[in-house]
Amino acid sequence: MTDIETSNDEIIERNFDERTEEDKEAFLTQTWCNACQAADLGMVEPKEYELNGVVIVEGKCKKCGEVSLTEVADESTDGEWEDER
Ligand SMILES: [Zn+2]
Repeated sequence: MTDIETSNDEIIERNFDERTEEDKEAFLTQTWCNACQAADLGMVEPKEYELNGVVIVEGKCKKCGEVSLTEVADESTDGEWEDER
């Protein structure tokens, strides 16, 4: 066992449905799609998980169907989150 895994991506599933309606609405409408290069197209089939300590909401672009990721900022920073780079 000398081989150390470098890609130690730890994914913890979270429940998107536990968010408030307001939150869900915001996540589903305030999006950025890398494929469309456009904001706020909306997304469907949201799921939420934590990856290496970062909470991510993942869904599919309503327009093109590409996966759209939103990093969720710490809840103490209220309402402002960064889009995927
Ligand atoms: Zn798109």
